Amino acid sequence: MSRTVSWSNWSGGVSCTPQRVEVPESEAHVIDLVRAAEESDAVVRVAGSGHSFVPLCATDGVVLSLDNLQGVIDTDPDRQQAVVWAGTKLHQLGEPLWRAGLALENQGDIDRQSLAGAISTGTHGTGVRLGNLATQVAGVRLVLASGDILDCSATTEPDVFHVARLSLGALGVITQFTLRLVPAYRLRERTWAASVDECLEQLPTLMQATRHFEFFWCPNTDTCAMKALDPTDDEPTPPHEWPYAPPGHVDRYVGPERVDWSYRIFPSERSDRFNEIEFAVPASLGPDCFIEIRRLVQERYSDVTWPIEYRSVAADDIPLSPAYGRETVTISVHQGASLPYEDFFRDVEAIFRAFQGRPHWGKIHWLTARDLRDLYPEWDRFQAVRERLDPNGRFLSPYLRELLID
Ligand SMILES: Cc1cc2nc3c(=O)[nH]c(=O)nc-3n(C[C@H](O)[C@H](O)[C@H](O)COP(=O)(O)OP(=O)(O)OC[C@H]3O[C@@H](n4cnc5c(N)ncnc54)[C@H](O)[C@@H]3O)c2cc1C
Repeated sequence: MSRTVSWSNWSGGVSCTPQRVEVPESEAHVIDLVRAAEESDAVVRVAGSGHSFVPLCATDGVVLSLDNLQGVIDTDPDRQQAVVWAGTKLHQLGEPLWRAGLALENQGDIDRQSLAGAISTGTHGTGVRLGNLATQVAGVRLVLASGDILDCSATTEPDVFHVARLSLGALGVITQFTLRLVPAYRLRERTWAASVDECLEQLPTLMQATRHFEFFWCPNTDTCAMKALDPTDDEPTPPHEWPYAPPGHVDRYVGPERVDWSYRIFPSERSDRFNEIEFAVPASLGPDCFIEIRRLVQERYSDVTWPIEYRSVAADDIPLSPAYGRETVTISVHQGASLPYEDFFRDVEAIFRAFQGRPHWGKIHWLTARDLRDLYPEWDRFQAVRERLDPNGRFLSPYLRELLID
C-alpha cells in the first residue's frame, strides 16, 4: 500500500520527496516492488527508523519501509541463534528472545532503531571485548536488484556474507537476519560523577575490568558521568523514576544503582532531538583524541552544553566496519537539533581525521569515497560484490554514490 510522498529522519535534518513510500506486506511484495523499480529505473532506498543523521535513506525514487516485516521467526536456544525479520525494532526483540532464554550480546544507547538499520551502519554499544551489532549476524537474506533472493552465511555465499553484514542498504533489501545470541543475562548498572583527571587515570582499568564501560563528558561543569554495566545473578530492582535533567547535565546520567535483564538496562530515553558526529579511532589514541576535542570545546565552542560520549568496540573483520582490524574507541559529539552545528562539527572532524578516525556511517561527516577508501583495507572487496549484485545501481542514491563511488 502506498503511503505519503514525503519522508524525514528522526533529527529533522534530512527530508526527501520520493515518488512513493512503500510498506510491503510480505517478502514476495518486496520482490514485486524491487522488480517494478528496476523496470521504471527508480532508485530504491530502504528506511528503518530514520535514526541516521545523514541522507542514507533519502531518494527521489522509492523509499521502502519494512515496518510490516517484523518479529522473531524462529529461535534455537541450543545453537543460541534466532531468525528475525529485518524490519523488527530493537525494542521488539528483548522480550521474545528472553522467553527463549536468549539475548543480544550488546546494545547501544537506544532501542528505537530497526534491526536492519542498526546493523547496516555498524551501530554499537560499549565493551572492549564486544563487537558492534553487525558482528552478531550469522546469516543475511537479501532481495537483490534482479528480484532474486540470496541467502548468505559464513558457509553459503561467504564472499557476499563477508561484506553484507554492514552494507548501508547498497547490496539489496535485507528481509531477514540470523542472529548469533548469548544466554539471557542480567546487568547491574552503576553510575557516578568524576573529574576529568580521575576519569582518564582510571579509564584503562575500568575499560578492561567492566563488561560495558563508557563515560559522558559534560562541558558546562567539566565533569565526567561514568557508567559501568556488569553481569549479575541478583534479582531485578524495582523500576525507579529518573528525574529530568537537560542533556549535558551530570544528573541526566548519574542515578541510583539498578539491576535488570540486559534488554531493559541498555536503552535510555532520548527525547531531546540533536545532531551528532562520531568517529571510531584506534583505542590507543582515544584518550588523546578526547583531550583535543575537549580543548576545542573549551577554547572555541564554550557555549556547547551537549555531552561527549566515549565508548569502546572490539576489533572485527567486516570490510566497512569502523572497527575493522583495530581495537576501537568511539567518540560522539552532539549539538541540539535547533542549533547550528556545521562549523563546530567540521572542526571536530579535523581532529578525528588527525587521529586516523573512521566516521560512523549513520552520523554526520563530510568524507566521500575518495577519503573513505584509504581508511578501509578491504574497500575494493566490498565494491566488487556491490557491482556484481547491483550492476545498474538500483540502490545507489546520489548520496550513496558520493560515499561509495570514486
Ligand atoms: C537518538 C539516537 C541514538 C543513537 N544511539 C546510537 C548508539 O548508541 N550507537 C550507535 O552506534 N549508533 C547510534 N545511533 C545511530 C543509529 O543507530 C544508526 O544511524 C542506525 O542506522 C539507525 O537505525 P534505523 O533503523 O533508524 O536505520 P535508518 O537510519 O533508517 O537506515 C540506516 C541504513 O540502513 C539501511 N537499511 C535499513 N533497513 C534496511 C533493510 N531492510 N535492508 C537493507 N538496508 C536497510 C538504510 O538504507 C540506511 O542505509 C543513534 C541515533 C539516534 C538518533
